[in-house]
Amino acid sequence: MKLNILIILTLFHFLVYSQNKKTIISSEKVMDLKDPKLKEKLTPEQYNICVGKGTERAFTGKFWDHHEKGTYTCAVCSTELFSSETKYDSGSGWPSFYDALDKTKVEEIKDISYGMVRIEIVCKKCKSHLGHIFNDGPKPTGMRYCVNSGSLEFEKK
Ligand SMILES: [Zn+2]
Repeated sequence: MKLNILIILTLFHFLVYSQNKKTIISSEKVMDLKDPKLKEKLTPEQYNICVGKGTERAFTGKFWDHHEKGTYTCAVCSTELFSSETKYDSGSGWPSFYDALDKTKVEEIKDISYGMVRIEIVCKKCKSHLGHIFNDGPKPTGMRYCVNSGSLEFEKK
């Protein structure tokens, strides 16, 4: 009889403990690519871009022709990455910026996929794929940060 009570108590504790653990996890913000909740936060296309390093089709994303004033943030970890101030129409069909809001928040990685040598850009904090950087941008930097709309969210000023 005593043993039965002990088993029930142990089970009860286990249930309470696992429930608590669950609550704590779900209240945390999604911060990195390994977080299982990221699949709920992002659309399948966004997930393919941010985690799978995919590219959205040109002229299909939500920001290539977007002209509001504000800040573009990382779709995964919400780091502020680009400003509408440096956004320009590159004609490529992807949101293009001639500078990052803060260069230390955008990491550049050599990318030799698809038989091309390109520089991939990722969010420094969470490593989410953003797009590529090219040196055919306008003055004053001469750079073109070519970013997938799916990698970004927008905060209106
Ligand atoms: Zn990020």
